[in-house]
Amino acid sequence: MRAAALLDFILPPACAGCGEALSNREALPVCENCRLRLREIPAPCCQRCGFPLGTGHAPSCQECREWPGNLVWVRAVTPLESPATELVHGLKYQGWRRVGIYLGREIGRRLGRALLGVQVIVAVPTSRSRMRRRGYNQAQVIAESLGATLGRPVSAALSRGPSARSQTTVRGRQRLANVKDAFVLSPCAKAELEGRVVLLVDDVITTGATLRAAALTLSPAQPASILAVSFARRLPMAHIEGGPR
Ligand SMILES: [Zn+2]
Ligand SMILES: [Zn+2]
Repeated sequence: MRAAALLDFILPPACAGCGEALSNREALPVCENCRLRLREIPAPCCQRCGFPLGTGHAPSCQECREWPGNLVWVRAVTPLESPATELVHGLKYQGWRRVGIYLGREIGRRLGRALLGVQVIVAVPTSRSRMRRRGYNQAQVIAESLGATLGRPVSAALSRGPSARSQTTVRGRQRLANVKDAFVLSPCAKAELEGRVVLLVDDVITTGATLRAAALTLSPAQPASILAVSFARRLPMAHIEGGPR
């Protein structure tokens, strides 16, 4: 048994966001206080990529100008700030699978109305180094939970290429070069995705470079269009609660 699983076994259940003990009545791995603190991405946002548009000086969004044409709509439930950060990165208080299932349901609950046209779901594969460190692919668990919530199948159309390094160790331009060729399209992809509305699912959106690479990799399978959702999204400091305005 891994150490984390052993702790779960011994200790009373704790909130995955704040570490407070959960009451026996609590069916979720996250306490009510933390759930209420998960605020929406501040409006107004770009209609396409969901990035906050700030004070309205720029008439069009600079974030998604160079995105592949088939990536048409991207949203996240909440900014990457506490307690969302703890939920996607911490995972030390509670079984990670339960938290992943909760995150998938939460995406479905908050964004489900916009996802009614989705026909197939594809998880963004976690890098091998992250898999080694964590021992699991959180995006896959979130995708399966969201698929069950929406009643849509999850396709294994994408996998990691052999040489991809973790995105957390590289920055900016280097980051984009690194994710290019990072994904491999599976042989089943065309049969499962062609002509369909596909939803990419990840735990966190940071620069969007990973989604761009995933959408480019899916292109030969000829999906009708690609949407993407994540639980959390990294925003500039000005948009983070408590950050400089
Ligand atoms: Zn909590
Ligand atoms: Zn945009």
